[in-house]
Amino acid sequence: MPKILLAGFMLEISSFNPIEYHYESFKIHRVEEIIMSSRGENTEYGGALEVLEAAGCELVPAWHAGGDAAGPLAHADYLRLMDEFKEATKPHAGKIDGVYFRLHGSNGTPEEFDPEGNLLEEARRILGEEVPIVVSLDLHGVLTAKMMTHADAIVSYHTYPHVDFADTGKRTCELLLRIINDGVKPVGVRVRIPAIVRGNELKTETGLFGSQIRYAKELQQNPEVLSAGFLICNPFTDVPELCSQAFVYTDGNAELAEAGALKMANDFWPNRSKMQAELIGLEDAVRKAAGMAGPVALTDAADATSSGASGNSNAIVAEMVRQGYPHTVLAPVCEPSLAQQAHDAGEGGKITAGWGGALDPRYTPLEMEFEVVSLSEGPFELETWIFTQNPGKMAVLRSGNYTIVATERPVMHVDRALFLVNGLDPKNFHSTVVKSPHCEPQFFDDWVEANLNVDAPGATSANLPSLGHTICERPMYPMEPDTVFTPSPERFSRSG
Ligand SMILES: [Zn+2]
Repeated sequence: MPKILLAGFMLEISSFNPIEYHYESFKIHRVEEIIMSSRGENTEYGGALEVLEAAGCELVPAWHAGGDAAGPLAHADYLRLMDEFKEATKPHAGKIDGVYFRLHGSNGTPEEFDPEGNLLEEARRILGEEVPIVVSLDLHGVLTAKMMTHADAIVSYHTYPHVDFADTGKRTCELLLRIINDGVKPVGVRVRIPAIVRGNELKTETGLFGSQIRYAKELQQNPEVLSAGFLICNPFTDVPELCSQAFVYTDGNAELAEAGALKMANDFWPNRSKMQAELIGLEDAVRKAAGMAGPVALTDAADATSSGASGNSNAIVAEMVRQGYPHTVLAPVCEPSLAQQAHDAGEGGKITAGWGGALDPRYTPLEMEFEVVSLSEGPFELETWIFTQNPGKMAVLRSGNYTIVATERPVMHVDRALFLVNGLDPKNFHSTVVKSPHCEPQFFDDWVEANLNVDAPGATSANLPSLGHTICERPMYPMEPDTVFTPSPERFSRSG
Protein backbone atom coordinates (compact mmCIF):
# COMPACT_ATOMS: atom_id res chain seq x y z
CA MET A 1 0.00 0.00 0.00
CA PRO A 2 1.89 3.13 -1.20
CA LYS A 3 2.03 6.00 1.23
CA ILE A 4 1.43 9.33 -0.53
CA LEU A 5 2.20 12.74 0.93
CA LEU A 6 -0.07 15.59 -0.17
CA ALA A 7 0.82 19.27 0.03
CA GLY A 8 -0.17 22.47 -1.69
CA PHE A 9 0.60 26.13 -2.12
CA MET A 10 -1.94 28.16 -4.07
CA LEU A 11 -1.50 31.86 -4.78
CA GLU A 12 -1.59 33.78 -8.05
CA ILE A 13 -0.12 37.24 -7.91
CA SER A 14 -0.18 40.42 -9.93
CA SER A 15 3.13 42.22 -9.49
CA PHE A 16 1.27 45.41 -10.42
CA ASN A 17 -1.13 45.31 -7.46
CA PRO A 18 0.41 47.58 -4.78
CA ILE A 19 -1.20 45.67 -1.88
CA GLU A 20 0.93 42.81 -0.52
CA TYR A 21 -0.73 39.55 0.48
CA HIS A 22 -0.21 38.36 4.03
CA TYR A 23 0.00 35.16 5.99
CA GLU A 24 -3.30 35.84 7.75
CA SER A 25 -5.19 35.76 4.45
CA PHE A 26 -4.16 32.16 3.70
CA LYS A 27 -6.35 29.29 4.56
CA ILE A 28 -3.78 27.04 6.20
CA HIS A 29 -5.22 23.55 6.13
CA ARG A 30 -3.42 20.75 7.86
CA VAL A 31 -3.64 17.01 7.97
CA GLU A 32 -7.22 15.73 7.92
CA GLU A 33 -8.77 18.95 6.65
CA ILE A 34 -7.35 18.49 3.18
CA ILE A 35 -9.01 15.11 2.87
CA MET A 36 -12.22 15.84 4.68
CA SER A 37 -13.09 18.96 2.71
CA SER A 38 -12.15 17.66 -0.73
CA ARG A 39 -13.65 14.23 -1.24
CA GLY A 40 -16.01 14.30 -4.21
CA GLU A 41 -15.34 17.96 -4.96
CA ASN A 42 -14.25 19.45 -8.27
CA THR A 43 -10.83 20.39 -6.95
CA GLU A 44 -7.38 18.95 -7.63
CA TYR A 45 -7.44 17.27 -4.23
CA GLY A 46 -10.90 15.89 -4.97
CA GLY A 47 -9.58 14.20 -8.11
CA ALA A 48 -6.38 13.12 -6.38
CA LEU A 49 -8.28 11.43 -3.56
CA GLU A 50 -10.51 9.58 -6.00
CA VAL A 51 -7.49 8.02 -7.70
CA LEU A 52 -5.33 7.42 -4.65
CA GLU A 53 -8.08 5.96 -2.51
CA ALA A 54 -9.25 3.66 -5.32
CA ALA A 55 -5.67 2.38 -5.53
CA GLY A 56 -5.65 1.71 -1.79
CA CYS A 57 -2.99 4.30 -1.02
CA GLU A 58 -2.40 5.54 2.47
CA LEU A 59 -2.75 9.32 2.42
CA VAL A 60 -0.50 11.65 4.36
CA PRO A 61 -1.84 15.20 4.05
CA ALA A 62 1.09 17.26 5.28
CA TRP A 63 0.53 20.95 4.57
CA HIS A 64 -1.52 23.32 2.46
CA ALA A 65 -1.51 27.11 2.17
CA GLY A 66 -4.50 28.21 0.14
CA GLY A 67 -4.60 31.77 -1.10
CA ASP A 68 -6.60 33.08 -4.05
CA ALA A 69 -5.21 35.78 -6.29
CA ALA A 70 -3.72 38.99 -5.01
CA GLY A 71 -0.77 41.33 -4.95
CA PRO A 72 2.72 39.97 -4.24
CA LEU A 73 3.14 37.74 -1.20
CA ALA A 74 4.92 39.62 1.60
CA HIS A 75 8.44 38.18 1.71
CA ALA A 76 8.58 37.61 5.48
CA ASP A 77 5.27 35.76 5.30
CA TYR A 78 6.62 33.59 2.49
CA LEU A 79 9.59 32.66 4.69
CA ARG A 80 7.22 31.82 7.55
CA LEU A 81 5.16 29.58 5.25
CA MET A 82 8.30 27.83 4.00
CA ASP A 83 9.35 27.14 7.59
CA GLU A 84 5.94 25.70 8.34
CA PHE A 85 6.13 23.54 5.25
CA LYS A 86 9.54 22.18 6.27
CA GLU A 87 8.34 21.43 9.80
CA ALA A 88 5.25 19.66 8.48
CA THR A 89 7.26 17.58 6.00
CA LYS A 90 10.29 16.51 8.08
CA PRO A 91 8.47 13.85 10.15
CA HIS A 92 7.63 12.00 6.92
CA ALA A 93 11.19 11.75 5.56
CA GLY A 94 12.02 8.16 4.65
CA LYS A 95 8.46 6.99 5.31
CA ILE A 96 6.62 7.82 2.09
CA ASP A 97 6.48 6.38 -1.45
CA GLY A 98 5.36 9.44 -3.41
CA VAL A 99 4.31 13.07 -3.24
CA TYR A 100 1.50 15.02 -4.85
CA PHE A 101 1.87 18.80 -4.87
CA ARG A 102 -1.03 21.04 -5.75
CA LEU A 103 0.51 24.33 -6.89
CA HIS A 104 -0.71 27.30 -8.90
CA GLY A 105 2.61 28.36 -10.41
CA SER A 106 2.23 32.15 -10.45
CA ASN A 107 3.32 32.94 -6.93
CA GLY A 108 5.97 35.51 -6.03
CA THR A 109 7.25 37.96 -3.45
CA PRO A 110 9.06 41.25 -4.08
CA GLU A 111 12.34 39.36 -3.46
CA GLU A 112 11.61 35.78 -4.49
CA PHE A 113 10.38 35.01 -7.99
CA ASP A 114 9.99 31.24 -7.75
CA PRO A 115 8.42 30.21 -4.43
CA GLU A 116 7.05 26.98 -5.93
CA GLY A 117 10.45 26.00 -7.31
CA ASN A 118 11.93 26.58 -3.86
CA LEU A 119 9.20 24.54 -2.24
CA LEU A 120 10.00 21.59 -4.51
CA GLU A 121 13.73 22.03 -3.88
CA GLU A 122 13.06 21.92 -0.12
CA ALA A 123 10.85 18.87 -0.55
CA ARG A 124 13.74 17.13 -2.31
CA ARG A 125 16.17 18.14 0.39
CA ILE A 126 13.89 16.76 3.09
CA LEU A 127 12.32 13.74 1.39
CA GLY A 128 15.24 12.64 -0.77
CA GLU A 129 16.15 12.36 -4.42
CA GLU A 130 14.43 9.01 -4.97
CA VAL A 131 10.84 9.80 -3.92
CA PRO A 132 8.63 10.47 -6.95
CA ILE A 133 7.14 13.98 -6.82
CA VAL A 134 4.37 15.06 -9.17
CA VAL A 135 2.87 18.53 -9.43
CA SER A 136 -0.35 19.96 -10.80
CA LEU A 137 -0.35 23.55 -12.03
CA ASP A 138 -2.92 26.09 -13.15
CA LEU A 139 -2.95 26.86 -16.88
CA HIS A 140 -1.76 30.34 -15.83
CA GLY A 141 1.25 28.97 -13.98
CA VAL A 142 4.78 30.11 -14.76
CA LEU A 143 6.74 26.90 -15.14
CA THR A 144 10.38 27.25 -14.08
CA ALA A 145 13.54 25.25 -14.62
CA LYS A 146 13.74 24.75 -10.86
CA MET A 147 10.27 23.21 -10.74
CA MET A 148 11.09 20.84 -13.59
CA THR A 149 14.42 19.96 -12.00
CA HIS A 150 12.92 18.88 -8.70
CA ALA A 151 9.59 17.43 -9.82
CA ASP A 152 9.41 14.11 -11.64
CA ALA A 153 6.54 15.42 -13.72
CA ILE A 154 4.17 18.34 -14.15
CA VAL A 155 0.50 18.21 -15.11
CA SER A 156 -1.66 21.26 -15.87
CA TYR A 157 -5.29 22.24 -16.42
CA HIS A 158 -6.60 21.72 -19.93
CA THR A 159 -9.43 24.23 -19.74
CA TYR A 160 -9.93 27.98 -19.72
CA PRO A 161 -12.18 29.18 -18.16
CA HIS A 162 -11.03 26.47 -15.76
CA VAL A 163 -13.46 23.63 -15.10
CA ASP A 164 -11.15 20.57 -14.97
CA PHE A 165 -9.78 20.94 -11.44
CA ALA A 166 -10.59 17.39 -10.31
CA ASP A 167 -9.60 15.91 -13.65
CA THR A 168 -6.17 17.55 -13.32
CA GLY A 169 -5.67 16.14 -9.82
CA LYS A 170 -6.75 12.77 -11.16
CA ARG A 171 -4.33 12.83 -14.10
CA THR A 172 -1.50 13.93 -11.83
CA CYS A 173 -2.02 11.12 -9.34
CA GLU A 174 -2.57 8.50 -12.06
CA LEU A 175 0.85 9.50 -13.32
CA LEU A 176 2.30 9.25 -9.81
CA LEU A 177 0.95 5.70 -9.53
CA ARG A 178 2.46 4.80 -12.91
CA ILE A 179 5.85 5.94 -11.63
CA ILE A 180 5.44 3.96 -8.41
CA ASN A 181 3.77 0.81 -9.76
CA ASP A 182 4.93 0.54 -13.39
CA GLY A 183 8.35 2.12 -13.06
CA VAL A 184 7.84 4.68 -15.84
CA LYS A 185 10.72 7.15 -16.03
CA PRO A 186 9.46 10.63 -16.93
CA VAL A 187 11.54 12.81 -19.19
CA GLY A 188 10.18 16.31 -19.66
CA VAL A 189 10.71 18.87 -22.39
CA ARG A 190 9.55 22.45 -22.34
CA VAL A 191 9.64 25.06 -25.09
CA ARG A 192 9.48 28.65 -23.92
CA ILE A 193 7.75 31.13 -26.20
CA PRO A 194 8.49 34.86 -25.78
CA ALA A 195 4.86 35.95 -25.77
CA ILE A 196 2.27 36.79 -23.15
CA VAL A 197 -1.33 36.59 -24.21
CA ARG A 198 -4.86 37.49 -23.20
CA GLY A 199 -8.33 37.62 -24.68
CA ASN A 200 -11.18 35.55 -26.07
CA GLU A 201 -9.01 33.37 -28.31
CA LEU A 202 -7.63 31.72 -25.17
CA LYS A 203 -10.97 30.11 -24.34
CA THR A 204 -10.21 26.47 -24.89
CA GLU A 205 -13.71 25.55 -26.11
CA THR A 206 -14.06 28.26 -28.73
CA GLY A 207 -10.74 30.06 -29.22
CA LEU A 208 -7.61 29.50 -31.30
CA PHE A 209 -5.67 28.32 -28.25
CA GLY A 210 -8.01 25.35 -28.00
CA SER A 211 -6.05 23.64 -30.76
CA GLN A 212 -2.91 23.50 -28.59
CA ILE A 213 -4.89 21.90 -25.79
CA ARG A 214 -6.62 19.44 -28.12
CA TYR A 215 -3.21 18.47 -29.44
CA ALA A 216 -1.89 18.00 -25.89
CA LYS A 217 -4.83 15.70 -25.17
CA GLU A 218 -4.22 13.83 -28.41
CA LEU A 219 -0.58 13.31 -27.41
CA GLN A 220 -1.75 11.87 -24.11
CA GLN A 221 -3.58 9.11 -26.02
CA ASN A 222 -0.13 7.63 -26.65
CA PRO A 223 0.69 5.43 -23.63
CA GLU A 224 4.31 6.60 -23.88
CA VAL A 225 3.20 10.19 -23.20
CA LEU A 226 2.74 10.78 -19.47
CA SER A 227 1.61 14.41 -19.51
CA ALA A 228 1.23 17.17 -22.07
CA GLY A 229 0.09 20.71 -21.59
CA PHE A 230 0.44 24.34 -22.51
CA LEU A 231 0.81 27.10 -19.94
CA ILE A 232 -0.23 30.57 -21.02
CA CYS A 233 1.10 32.01 -17.70
CA ASN A 234 -0.44 34.82 -15.67
CA PRO A 235 0.86 37.81 -17.66
CA PHE A 236 0.73 39.96 -14.51
CA THR A 237 3.25 37.86 -12.58
CA ASP A 238 6.39 39.74 -13.54
CA VAL A 239 9.11 37.13 -12.91
CA PRO A 240 12.19 36.07 -14.92
CA GLU A 241 10.64 32.99 -16.54
CA LEU A 242 7.31 34.62 -17.40
CA CYS A 243 6.28 33.49 -20.90
CA SER A 244 4.02 31.00 -22.66
CA GLN A 245 5.27 27.41 -22.54
CA ALA A 246 4.52 24.07 -24.13
CA PHE A 247 5.61 20.98 -22.22
CA VAL A 248 5.47 17.22 -22.65
CA TYR A 249 6.57 14.35 -20.41
CA THR A 250 7.13 10.89 -21.86
CA ASP A 251 8.34 7.58 -20.50
CA GLY A 252 12.01 8.00 -21.31
CA ASN A 253 11.48 9.12 -24.92
CA ALA A 254 13.02 12.59 -25.09
CA GLU A 255 12.61 12.84 -28.88
CA LEU A 256 8.89 12.18 -28.65
CA ALA A 257 8.52 14.77 -25.87
CA GLU A 258 10.53 17.29 -27.85
CA ALA A 259 8.53 16.79 -31.05
CA GLY A 260 5.24 17.27 -29.21
CA ALA A 261 6.31 20.39 -27.32
CA LEU A 262 7.81 21.91 -30.48
CA LYS A 263 4.67 21.33 -32.50
CA MET A 264 2.50 23.01 -29.85
CA ALA A 265 4.89 25.96 -29.58
CA ASN A 266 5.27 26.42 -33.34
CA ASP A 267 1.51 26.22 -33.90
CA PHE A 268 0.88 28.77 -31.13
CA TRP A 269 3.40 31.42 -32.19
CA PRO A 270 1.71 32.63 -35.44
CA ASN A 271 -1.50 33.31 -33.47
CA ARG A 272 0.15 35.56 -30.86
CA SER A 273 -1.33 38.79 -32.24
CA LYS A 274 -4.82 37.27 -32.33
CA MET A 275 -4.40 36.19 -28.70
CA GLN A 276 -4.50 39.73 -27.39
CA ALA A 277 -7.61 41.22 -25.88
CA GLU A 278 -9.83 43.37 -28.04
CA LEU A 279 -10.56 46.27 -25.78
CA ILE A 280 -12.90 49.24 -26.09
CA GLY A 281 -11.67 52.55 -24.72
CA LEU A 282 -13.30 53.55 -21.43
CA GLU A 283 -15.14 56.60 -22.80
CA ASP A 284 -16.38 54.75 -25.89
CA ALA A 285 -17.50 51.72 -23.91
CA VAL A 286 -19.62 53.81 -21.55
CA ARG A 287 -21.11 55.78 -24.44
CA LYS A 288 -21.89 52.60 -26.33
CA ALA A 289 -23.51 50.93 -23.31
CA ALA A 290 -25.59 54.05 -22.66
CA GLY A 291 -27.14 53.68 -26.12
CA MET A 292 -28.11 50.03 -25.65
CA ALA A 293 -31.42 48.59 -24.50
CA GLY A 294 -29.54 46.27 -22.12
CA PRO A 295 -28.80 44.32 -20.13
CA VAL A 296 -25.11 45.03 -20.66
CA ALA A 297 -22.02 43.61 -18.98
CA LEU A 298 -19.03 45.92 -18.79
CA THR A 299 -16.03 43.71 -18.22
CA ASP A 300 -13.31 45.37 -16.16
CA ALA A 301 -10.61 42.72 -16.46
CA ALA A 302 -8.02 45.28 -15.35
CA ASP A 303 -9.37 45.00 -11.80
CA ALA A 304 -9.93 41.23 -11.81
CA THR A 305 -9.37 40.00 -8.27
CA SER A 306 -9.22 36.45 -9.64
CA SER A 307 -6.11 37.47 -11.60
CA GLY A 308 -4.50 39.34 -8.69
CA ALA A 309 -5.88 42.89 -8.84
CA SER A 310 -7.08 44.79 -5.77
CA GLY A 311 -10.75 45.05 -6.74
CA ASN A 312 -10.47 48.69 -5.71
CA SER A 313 -11.27 50.30 -9.07
CA ASN A 314 -14.05 52.83 -9.59
CA ALA A 315 -12.91 53.64 -13.14
CA ILE A 316 -15.99 52.55 -15.06
CA VAL A 317 -18.50 54.09 -12.66
CA ALA A 318 -16.46 57.30 -12.50
CA GLU A 319 -16.67 57.58 -16.29
CA MET A 320 -20.42 56.84 -16.18
CA VAL A 321 -20.92 59.62 -13.64
CA ARG A 322 -18.87 61.96 -15.81
CA GLN A 323 -21.03 61.18 -18.85
CA GLY A 324 -24.36 61.29 -16.95
CA TYR A 325 -25.14 57.60 -17.55
CA PRO A 326 -28.91 57.16 -17.79
CA HIS A 327 -29.37 53.52 -16.69
CA THR A 328 -29.29 51.40 -13.56
CA VAL A 329 -25.80 50.15 -12.75
CA LEU A 330 -24.53 47.39 -10.47
CA ALA A 331 -20.83 47.49 -9.56
CA PRO A 332 -18.57 45.85 -6.96
CA VAL A 333 -15.68 47.45 -5.12
CA CYS A 334 -13.29 46.32 -2.45
CA GLU A 335 -13.09 49.40 -0.24
CA PRO A 336 -12.70 48.62 3.46
CA SER A 337 -13.59 52.11 4.66
CA LEU A 338 -16.80 52.26 2.60
CA ALA A 339 -17.95 48.88 3.94
CA GLN A 340 -17.14 50.04 7.48
CA GLN A 341 -18.87 53.40 7.11
CA ALA A 342 -21.98 51.65 5.84
CA HIS A 343 -21.97 49.27 8.80
CA ASP A 344 -21.51 52.21 11.18
CA ALA A 345 -24.47 54.02 9.60
CA GLY A 346 -26.73 50.94 9.61
CA GLU A 347 -29.37 49.90 7.10
CA GLY A 348 -31.36 52.87 5.87
CA GLY A 349 -28.58 55.21 6.95
CA LYS A 350 -27.20 57.93 4.71
CA ILE A 351 -23.50 58.51 4.14
CA THR A 352 -21.32 60.63 1.92
CA ALA A 353 -18.14 58.86 0.98
CA GLY A 354 -15.32 58.91 -1.51
CA TRP A 355 -14.76 55.41 -2.82
CA GLY A 356 -12.16 53.72 -5.01
CA GLY A 357 -8.45 54.38 -4.70
CA ALA A 358 -7.93 53.67 -1.00
CA LEU A 359 -5.93 50.52 -1.82
CA ASP A 360 -4.68 51.23 -5.32
CA PRO A 361 -3.59 54.84 -5.82
CA ARG A 362 -4.08 54.65 -9.57
CA TYR A 363 -7.76 55.44 -8.88
CA THR A 364 -9.11 58.79 -7.71
CA PRO A 365 -11.79 58.56 -4.98
CA LEU A 366 -15.27 59.24 -6.32
CA GLU A 367 -17.47 61.08 -3.85
CA MET A 368 -21.13 60.04 -3.75
CA GLU A 369 -24.09 60.33 -1.39
CA PHE A 370 -25.31 56.84 -0.53
CA GLU A 371 -28.25 55.23 1.14
CA VAL A 372 -27.26 51.99 2.89
CA VAL A 373 -29.61 49.39 1.40
CA SER A 374 -28.38 46.29 3.22
CA LEU A 375 -25.50 44.95 5.28
CA SER A 376 -24.02 41.50 5.57
CA GLU A 377 -20.83 39.60 6.36
CA GLY A 378 -19.05 36.68 4.74
CA PRO A 379 -18.01 34.03 4.08
CA PHE A 380 -19.89 32.91 1.00
CA GLU A 381 -19.44 30.31 -1.72
CA LEU A 382 -18.94 30.90 -5.44
CA GLU A 383 -21.47 29.57 -7.95
CA THR A 384 -19.33 26.76 -9.38
CA TRP A 385 -15.73 27.11 -8.21
CA ILE A 386 -14.85 25.56 -4.86
CA PHE A 387 -13.25 28.64 -3.33
CA THR A 388 -14.82 30.02 -0.17
CA GLN A 389 -14.79 33.80 -0.30
CA ASN A 390 -14.05 35.88 2.78
CA PRO A 391 -15.27 39.40 2.07
CA GLY A 392 -15.44 40.51 5.71
CA LYS A 393 -18.08 43.23 5.98
CA MET A 394 -20.28 43.73 2.91
CA ALA A 395 -22.67 46.57 2.14
CA VAL A 396 -25.11 47.36 -0.64
CA LEU A 397 -25.20 51.11 -1.21
CA ARG A 398 -27.42 53.08 -3.55
CA SER A 399 -26.81 56.50 -5.05
CA GLY A 400 -29.37 57.43 -7.70
CA ASN A 401 -29.10 54.85 -10.50
CA TYR A 402 -25.89 53.34 -9.05
CA THR A 403 -25.86 50.30 -6.76
CA ILE A 404 -22.44 49.58 -5.31
CA VAL A 405 -21.56 46.40 -3.43
CA ALA A 406 -18.65 47.22 -1.13
CA THR A 407 -16.53 44.56 0.53
CA GLU A 408 -13.95 44.87 3.27
CA ARG A 409 -11.65 42.33 1.61
CA PRO A 410 -11.24 41.33 -2.05
CA VAL A 411 -13.41 38.51 -3.40
CA MET A 412 -13.51 36.83 -6.79
CA HIS A 413 -15.93 38.08 -9.44
CA VAL A 414 -15.74 35.03 -11.68
CA ASP A 415 -19.53 34.65 -11.35
CA ARG A 416 -22.51 36.45 -9.76
CA ALA A 417 -22.08 35.06 -6.25
CA LEU A 418 -21.23 38.38 -4.55
CA PHE A 419 -24.35 39.96 -5.99
CA LEU A 420 -26.69 37.02 -5.35
CA VAL A 421 -25.57 36.58 -1.75
CA ASN A 422 -26.50 40.23 -1.20
CA GLY A 423 -29.97 39.77 -2.71
CA LEU A 424 -29.08 41.42 -6.03
CA ASP A 425 -29.73 39.81 -9.41
CA PRO A 426 -27.71 41.38 -12.23
CA LYS A 427 -30.66 40.63 -14.55
CA ASN A 428 -32.56 43.40 -12.74
CA PHE A 429 -29.98 46.03 -13.73
CA HIS A 430 -29.31 47.60 -17.10
CA SER A 431 -25.55 47.43 -16.63
CA THR A 432 -23.27 45.31 -14.48
CA VAL A 433 -19.55 45.86 -13.98
CA VAL A 434 -17.86 42.44 -14.10
CA LYS A 435 -14.34 42.35 -12.67
CA SER A 436 -13.24 39.13 -14.36
CA PRO A 437 -11.81 38.58 -17.85
CA HIS A 438 -14.06 35.64 -18.63
CA CYS A 439 -16.95 34.09 -16.77
CA GLU A 440 -18.70 30.86 -17.60
CA PRO A 441 -21.33 31.88 -20.22
CA GLN A 442 -24.41 31.19 -18.11
CA PHE A 443 -23.41 33.89 -15.64
CA PHE A 444 -23.61 36.84 -18.08
CA ASP A 445 -22.87 36.15 -21.75
CA ASP A 446 -25.92 33.94 -22.32
CA TRP A 447 -28.41 36.67 -21.46
CA VAL A 448 -26.80 40.11 -21.93
CA GLU A 449 -27.22 42.20 -25.06
CA ALA A 450 -23.47 42.80 -25.09
CA ASN A 451 -20.41 42.21 -22.95
CA LEU A 452 -18.06 45.14 -23.51
CA ASN A 453 -14.42 44.51 -22.73
CA VAL A 454 -13.34 47.85 -21.33
CA ASP A 455 -9.80 49.25 -21.47
CA ALA A 456 -9.79 50.65 -17.94
CA PRO A 457 -6.62 51.14 -15.88
CA GLY A 458 -5.66 48.37 -13.46
CA ALA A 459 -3.14 45.86 -12.12
CA THR A 460 -4.45 43.11 -14.41
CA SER A 461 -5.14 45.10 -17.55
CA ALA A 462 -5.37 43.02 -20.70
CA ASN A 463 -3.65 45.94 -22.38
CA LEU A 464 -0.38 44.18 -21.55
CA PRO A 465 2.12 46.81 -22.72
CA SER A 466 0.40 49.30 -20.40
CA LEU A 467 1.52 47.40 -17.29
CA GLY A 468 5.25 48.16 -17.28
CA HIS A 469 6.99 44.79 -16.86
CA THR A 470 10.56 45.17 -15.62
CA ILE A 471 11.63 41.64 -14.62
CA CYS A 472 10.56 39.18 -17.32
CA GLU A 473 12.94 38.40 -20.17
CA ARG A 474 12.90 40.77 -23.11
CA PRO A 475 12.15 41.03 -25.91
CA MET A 476 8.63 39.81 -25.18
CA TYR A 477 5.59 40.03 -27.42
CA PRO A 478 3.44 42.25 -27.39
CA MET A 479 5.70 44.71 -25.56
CA GLU A 480 8.20 44.32 -28.39
CA PRO A 481 6.08 43.64 -31.49
CA ASP A 482 9.12 42.50 -33.50
CA THR A 483 10.09 39.75 -31.06
CA VAL A 484 11.60 36.73 -32.82
CA PHE A 485 10.88 33.17 -31.67
CA THR A 486 13.75 30.70 -31.91
CA PRO A 487 12.47 27.41 -30.49
CA SER A 488 14.90 25.91 -28.03
CA PRO A 489 13.62 22.75 -26.31
CA GLU A 490 14.92 22.18 -22.76
CA ARG A 491 15.08 18.64 -21.36
CA PHE A 492 14.62 17.59 -17.76
CA SER A 493 14.96 14.08 -16.38
CA ARG A 494 15.48 12.75 -12.89
CA SER A 495 16.56 9.32 -14.05
CA GLY A 496 19.65 10.62 -15.87
ZN1 LIG B 1 -5.84 30.21 -13.99
